[in-house]
Amino acid sequence: MTIQWFPGHMTKARRQIEEKLKLIDVVIELLDARIPLSSRNPMVDEILKGKPRLVLLNKNDLADPQVTADWVKYFADQGLPALPIDAATGTHVKEILPRVKQLWAHKIERQLSKGINPRAVRALIVGIPNVGKSTLINQLAGKKIAATGDKPGVTKGQQWIKVGTEMDLLDTPGILWPKFEDQMVGMRLAATGAIKEELLHLDEIALFVVKYMVQNYGAGIQERFGVQDLPEDLDDIQEMVKVMEAIGRKRGAIVSGGKVDLDKASLIIIRELRAGKMGRISLEKPLDKR
Ligand code: GDP
Repeated sequence: MTIQWFPGHMTKARRQIEEKLKLIDVVIELLDARIPLSSRNPMVDEILKGKPRLVLLNKNDLADPQVTADWVKYFADQGLPALPIDAATGTHVKEILPRVKQLWAHKIERQLSKGINPRAVRALIVGIPNVGKSTLINQLAGKKIAATGDKPGVTKGQQWIKVGTEMDLLDTPGILWPKFEDQMVGMRLAATGAIKEELLHLDEIALFVVKYMVQNYGAGIQERFGVQDLPEDLDDIQEMVKVMEAIGRKRGAIVSGGKVDLDKASLIIIRELRAGKMGRISLEKPLDKR
């Protein structure tokens, strides 16, 4: 479910996270591995105020593994440990606890040196809508507890979920808003399903996807859709539309008269991308122009 973010919602969401932060030791920041920076809240550093933080690159099953490796290095260079995971299948989810404990190890050692029995590390998951927060909470809890869907403003009683004996996780995540001001960011969010596509034109999103794929995953398009010649000039919109038409034709998106139904072709392109049917594709690289 996608929220329409208004300034009032953002203020409220921020206040809710700040309330939760008082209770916790370590923040788990969930990003979409396909678009890590575009799925990141623009004010996250300021909001989290220096709490120890683990970055998780979720939906890595859909992302290009080579690009994800570049992102892990990108975050490491900024002093942020990052771990690629698939919350839906649980892949690498078991590595979260040791990583979180590492971030809190200095406190545990201090407690031990004072003769205090260390308590479980308290963690909070934060991220924009649809990034997989509820899925991850359920996966860590080992059962279905987190309500999927986001409503800033709806507060439930805070509960702790025990992840083994060494980590307590807040059962409701911190919901952050994405960046909106940049059109490319909006395209990436829409292409991956993080924001409602009604907010943008389907054909615009599909055109963005096709252009990115022609540039970075040309062979994938050629193989999957049998498109022979890919445009060399990435800014030649007519040539890109021809690629979209070829894809539509291949998938039978034809209107009477034999013309390709571009809206239908756009929907097919976006659906197949989101389902991972075109292969593992990342839509943002550390070196992409912003
Ligand atoms: P939230 O809004 O952040 O709580 O996101 P949800 O947990 O509701 O997940 C949003 C969508 O992403 C759901 O359809 C999930 O099934 C899907 N999802 C979550 N994690 C993964 C993942 O690792 N891989 C894939 N392919 N889909 C995922």
